[in-house]
Amino acid sequence: MDLHTHSLISDGTERPADVVAEAARAGLTGLALTDHDTTAGWTEAALAAEELGMQFLPGTEITTLTDDGISVHLLSYLHDPDHPGLRDAIADARDGRTERARRMAERLSEDFPITWDDVAAQIAEGATVGRPHLADALVSRGVVGDRQEAFDRLLHKHSPYYVFQRNIGTTRAVRLVREAGGVPVIAHAMADSRGRTVSEEQLESFVRAGLAGVEVYHRDNPESGRKFLLRFAARHDLLVTGSSDYHGAGKPNVIGENTTDPETVQALIDQAGA
Ligand code: AMP
Ligand code: FE
Ligand code: FE
Ligand code: ZN
Repeated sequence: MDLHTHSLISDGTERPADVVAEAARAGLTGLALTDHDTTAGWTEAALAAEELGMQFLPGTEITTLTDDGISVHLLSYLHDPDHPGLRDAIADARDGRTERARRMAERLSEDFPITWDDVAAQIAEGATVGRPHLADALVSRGVVGDRQEAFDRLLHKHSPYYVFQRNIGTTRAVRLVREAGGVPVIAHAMADSRGRTVSEEQLESFVRAGLAGVEVYHRDNPESGRKFLLRFAARHDLLVTGSSDYHGAGKPNVIGENTTDPETVQALIDQAGA
């Protein structure tokens, strides 16, 4: 199973049902849909999976921040989407993202022919907004050729157009996911190409808060990071997952390029609702 995919309910490019169909075409037995800071794609994906006889795990990739400002993407599986604490935290994250995207669009509009309307035109109804939508708007205006160029030139962390976003604390998010009956797994934890990564001490504090697993097999985790995570997971009895982080045409990641074995998926399901 592929335990980390995105649809246009966040910054992927396909409908949830089409992501499921793509997983079936790739020969996968199942998948998790893990759009950023939302559960809005779950129903459509679950229906599509049922029709195709695929196993489906509802998930969310929660944008969190450590005390010392490291961005941590926390995958939550099988949580209650109506748990007030978690639901409100995720809703706050979505609102913060919209506000931040507006501010970035404003900065970009001072130097490029782009307006908030151009960005809004790239966002599916009810979807979580992210920098990829700013990238798509820049592509539609002919400022850049594709998302990659938009990130490389204008949207990266050190760009003058970048706006920092406050997020829920990682430890608090781990606790909330457990409270909501979900299973928290850290996404691409050693992906140093994305910025600073967490220390072993920080990972240990997440384990104390209830962390269930680490995503080891992800294209952004370098070999040394995978080795470290495997040792860490063995020592703390954590689940080890693998996934593609598929974003449709928005990224080169191929669905099913990394997978999680059925025993681990079952162990993960067994932890849900606890
Ligand atoms: P944000 O969540 O708004 O900070 O935007 C980060 C998202 O942008 C990530 O979830 C990725 O899906 C996407 N992203 C980051 N770097 C790139 C890139 N070079 N090309 C395409 N998408 C990217
Ligand atoms: Fe993304
Ligand atoms: Fe991520
Ligand atoms: Zn992701």
